Amino acid sequence: MQKKNMPPKKYNSEEERKAAAAPKRQNARQQETADQRAERLQRDSEAKRLKLDNETAEQRAARLLRKAETSRSRIENETAEQRAARLLRKAETSRSRIENETAEQRAARLLRKAETSRSRIENETAEKSAARLLRKAETSRSRIDNETAEQHAARLLRKAETSRSRIDNETAEQRAARLLRKAETSRSRIDNETAEQSAARLLRKAETYRSRIDNETAEQHAARLQHDAEAHSRYRRPTIRTNAIDLANINEKEIIEFYCGQMNESCEFCNSLNFMGERPPDRKFSACCHKGKIDLPEQDYPEYL
Ligand SMILES: [Zn+2]
Repeated sequence: MQKKNMPPKKYNSEEERKAAAAPKRQNARQQETADQRAERLQRDSEAKRLKLDNETAEQRAARLLRKAETSRSRIENETAEQRAARLLRKAETSRSRIENETAEQRAARLLRKAETSRSRIENETAEKSAARLLRKAETSRSRIDNETAEQHAARLLRKAETSRSRIDNETAEQRAARLLRKAETSRSRIDNETAEQSAARLLRKAETYRSRIDNETAEQHAARLQHDAEAHSRYRRPTIRTNAIDLANINEKEIIEFYCGQMNESCEFCNSLNFMGERPPDRKFSACCHKGKIDLPEQDYPEYL
């Protein structure tokens, strides 16, 4: 840095010269008192500021370029350990700065971040966009796969709260649009499901329903029966309702068995055997020969008839 103190040129580079001078300088610094040290740092700081204050635009640009190149060169040549250590220092510096920032600094930082992010997204190509969304999905899935039970519960709770908050604040149009999207998604999924998926869905639905019934309170039970009864009467056609037997409410134990006797009543006209219970009041059967009006020719019947 101090050109006037530079020794005769016997080094191949500035780095070599500094490396050679380092032990001597280090020794000198170990000898200095606290006051001398403070004085030296003050002197260096002033010299540096003076130099920066007086540099031209070109000098400034050149200095920043050198700095960037030095930095890039160092990064390109660093070992894995050096890289890890650098990123750790960077993260710590960043966290420390964030912890100590004021409310305004925080707001400004988040705004800059959002603008940078939006600008990058607006200018990205289709491929970059796809890659970004894929990375995002993978990061999200990886985080979900690795979350603890508490993190899982906390995430679902946050999700539910966000969702409820959004629903609470939506307009009538937003609500209608949301329900329409939901119905379309649901129908599309049902239309495209396999036979197994369909069976599994209906089973889940039945189980959910039964579970709800099993766990309902007395009030919920009464309300459900009332609701079902109203739904039944609403959807049944009046003509059927007045005449039809209420099959849903039949008690099988109360049904009287129908018995029409043995089939041993002989028709006086054709000698066919009939059930006693089907015998008309005038004792003349109609189902066989219509009370003798139909005269069937004699046929050869098998022996068991
Ligand atoms: Zn007969």
